[in-house]
Amino acid sequence: MFATLSDRLTSTFKNLRTKGRLSEADIDATVREIRRALLDADVAVPVVRSFTGAVRERALSAEVSQALNPAQQVVKIVNDELVAILGGQNRPLAMAKRPPTVILLAGLQGAGKTTLAGKLALHLKNQGHTPLLVAADLQRPNAVTQLQVVGERAGVPVYAPHPGNQGADDYLPAGADPVAVARQGLETARTRQHDVLIVDTAGRLGVDAELMQQASDIRDAVEPDEVLFVIDAMIGQDAVATAQAFADGVGFTGVVLSKLDGDARGGAALSVASVTGRPILFASTGEKLTDFEVFHPDRMASRILDMGDVLTLIEQAEKAFDAEQAEKMAGKLVSGEDFTLEDFLVQMQQLRKMGPLKNMFGMLPGMGQMREALDNFDEREVDRIEAIIRSMTPAERQNPKIINGSRRARIARGSGTTPTDINQLVERFDGAQKVMRQMAKGGGMSGMPGMGN
Ligand code: GDP
Repeated sequence: MFATLSDRLTSTFKNLRTKGRLSEADIDATVREIRRALLDADVAVPVVRSFTGAVRERALSAEVSQALNPAQQVVKIVNDELVAILGGQNRPLAMAKRPPTVILLAGLQGAGKTTLAGKLALHLKNQGHTPLLVAADLQRPNAVTQLQVVGERAGVPVYAPHPGNQGADDYLPAGADPVAVARQGLETARTRQHDVLIVDTAGRLGVDAELMQQASDIRDAVEPDEVLFVIDAMIGQDAVATAQAFADGVGFTGVVLSKLDGDARGGAALSVASVTGRPILFASTGEKLTDFEVFHPDRMASRILDMGDVLTLIEQAEKAFDAEQAEKMAGKLVSGEDFTLEDFLVQMQQLRKMGPLKNMFGMLPGMGQMREALDNFDEREVDRIEAIIRSMTPAERQNPKIINGSRRARIARGSGTTPTDINQLVERFDGAQKVMRQMAKGGGMSGMPGMGN
């Protein structure tokens, strides 16, 4: 799902992460790469333009220059803007005050409407609804039979008074009236007390007036609460024009992205919400009835950016960190001097305010592959380090070199550890200090473990 786009964007950010401060040129280069990645993924040109414009403007603002980690702040901005083009928040289905709620499915032939009808019916049934499917696609060969099959699989009844087209070519059999079928379907739902009606309509291989007329007539006959436009995420640049044609011809209230399991560029589908101003409600991700999900713009954006739950992490950091303290620390990190065990203790305590370190690591991107190491992570190790530093005098924390044999024995006793533990900590800290000094000289964070590559 959007794998290529995802790879391109993540490698763009990788380059950025090696930089401590971002110049205007860095930001321009990044924005250029983002633009190329989006265009190559078939995201519509106007959407790309407004997207990159917004990212650039925000990336050049104080929001980034004053951030603790400018590169990460840029990622957050890209994420925010992605969420915005994907429609902001998830919108649930609009349910009628007086059932049945009527949902009309529209879209090109092969878009995945019939499959989606079954998936949606199952989803609603699992939520305790009593949906009825209506076979109003009488035109595509065997569409009615196909709906009956998915209905049976989902355990949802199908209203299909007409067998539809059972030939090999696409045509409306004589006497077949999809509008009448839809209308009768609604009456049936009322009398049999189904609380949701899902109407499958005919599509064509391309947009044409007759198709739009038929869909509009069905719409007028059943007055749907939702018209869902189903769009195949793999159709590329045509997606936007098709969406626009359906928006003008039939009108729709929401979008369903289908075939998101394929990786064909898919970016066009990402433009649909933005271009038509209609939210994406669901995503279809395979041929099985359960390959279906409620569409959350924020989660989709995180997935595209391979970010894990970095947003939650940043928010927690923003909450936990004292800004003044943080600035002082950042200053020390940049100068590479004076970063003492005392500072280390303060930082560690701030970090731990965000919750167990293990949970925090778990929210980092790419941590999926490090599950085992995480499981073995022992929070008590951190407790021990804290205890050791706490058992030191201020002078020792300032300058660990003065720790001789007797001081070491005292600290070990005070912290319930051994003199060897004290030695190890002091050595490790000394090593870290060296790295920080080098970093300060080099002007970047790249030398530091855990700061990206
Ligand atoms: P309709 O003409 O709009 O009713 O489209 P169909 O529901 O018949 O779907 C067209 C084809 O796409 C069928 O072969 C489906 O099995 C397939 N299809 C539908 N949705 C998905 C999906 O999310 N992923 C994949 N891989 N195939 C799908």
